[in-house]
Amino acid sequence: ITQYAAIFSDISERKRTEERIKNLAYYDVLTGLPNRRLFIDRLQLAIANANRHGELMAIMFIDLDLFKRINDSLGHGIGDQVLVETAERLSRSLREGDTVARLGGDEFTILLPRIDHVEDAAKLAERLLAQVKQPFVVEGHELFVTASAGIAVFPENGAGIDALIKNADTAMYRAKDMGRNGFQLYSPAMNARSFERLSMESALRHAVRRGEFRLAYQVKVDLGSGRMSGVEALIRWRHHALGRGSPNDFSPLAEAMGLIGEIGAWVLREACRQCKHWHDLGLPPVRIAVNVSALQFREGDIPRMVSDALAETGLSPHHLELELTESVLMQRVEDVVGVLQQLRAMGVRISIDDFGTGYSSLSYLKRMPIDALKVDRSFVDDIFSDSGAVTEEGAEIVSTIIPLAHTRRLQAIAEGVETRAQAEVLRQRGCDEVQGFLISRPVSGEDLISLFDRNLLPEGIG
Ligand code: C2E
Ligand code: MG
Ligand code: MG
Repeated sequence: ITQYAAIFSDISERKRTEERIKNLAYYDVLTGLPNRRLFIDRLQLAIANANRHGELMAIMFIDLDLFKRINDSLGHGIGDQVLVETAERLSRSLREGDTVARLGGDEFTILLPRIDHVEDAAKLAERLLAQVKQPFVVEGHELFVTASAGIAVFPENGAGIDALIKNADTAMYRAKDMGRNGFQLYSPAMNARSFERLSMESALRHAVRRGEFRLAYQVKVDLGSGRMSGVEALIRWRHHALGRGSPNDFSPLAEAMGLIGEIGAWVLREACRQCKHWHDLGLPPVRIAVNVSALQFREGDIPRMVSDALAETGLSPHHLELELTESVLMQRVEDVVGVLQQLRAMGVRISIDDFGTGYSSLSYLKRMPIDALKVDRSFVDDIFSDSGAVTEEGAEIVSTIIPLAHTRRLQAIAEGVETRAQAEVLRQRGCDEVQGFLISRPVSGEDLISLFDRNLLPEGIG
């Protein structure tokens, strides 16, 4: 009988070993999620099923944004805990039958073996990204993590495993391109884009070092005196093969690549240097405005960057202004207020760019230590209808924003002013300053010199 027992325990031991091997082979050790092998197995099955029943299925790639920074700055232990917690949050948000797997690193995939509409996958992506966005508390650190997702749908976006995976991955990178913290559906046009992206990416990586960036300067004019009241610095990229890039084309890529901090620091330094240079030439002192994107603001130490640039160039803080977008204000309010207060205590001026296009509520605005609102170009465009008459709806927005700014003791600046008629309406409605092609296009630092110390308003305004 002892022999039976020995054989018996032998069998159960082997079973356990088999079990262990199976676990190692099909599951990710860190998170306990299915690994790539099991995911591919299930995907194969799902494709076969969808094919047989003529149904839709989808896969989604989810990648944490800038996860490397957490690992680099807080250590792998904390990074691992974020991954474990992310795995739990994703698993919790799925339906039965859906699979979430970890492919490695900070990349997760989700298999939706049956969906009724493409929108189902999109809605799920939204829900999952919202889950990831909830703060993580790990060893006393409160971490804010976002993710980007790409979706490929069978059969439209690929008939087989490889095509679907590749296309979901491409879509995910596109979501990163668009500024992260979002999702994208795959579409064939994106294939072409991904080549373009590859060449642009490597070019952009070298652009700072090779000195391919320049700044162009556009004046702001005081509607009372007609004099230059400030100058805005706008980045330009001159690349031999890719031509002249508008910041709207390459900024999202620079952000996705994590280069925006480096580029932003260069812009700030160069703008301060140029402004100091104008002062040194004996020109009337003018203030220089520099744009700071929401991502830059969130991820960089802006007060530090500013004080470094000022120290290095010798420009007085009173001659520096930062233009922030409304999306900056919608980040964590206490943090933002703190940073803005620090900057203003240094003497730096703050304005809100493209005002009216974001979703910042006016109650936010009340709490923000800022100096000026820049009315977005689209509202200036709307003042006149195509037939050339003032439209009340169009003019109403500027007529609302300007007094709103004034009751908060903020200056109102209109951007994108192209015609005299627009400038005249803006002046009548109390706007303080204008900026736009009517006065001057963005020009080189040298060309700007001719615009100092004279009335820049065309005849007949004022
Ligand atoms: P923004 O800060 O609102 O800059 C104004 C944009 O409107 C500029 O485009 C300018 O050339 C254009 N513009 C000025 N007047 C007129 C006009 O009368 N009519 C029309 N149609 N356009 C006008 P640009 O230089 O392509 O810059 C686009 C955006 O890229 C900027 O919008 C800003 O948000 C961003 N940007 C530019 N330089 C930088 C930078 O150094 N750092 C960061 N973070 N963002 C930058
Ligand atoms: Mg601006
Ligand atoms: Mg603007």
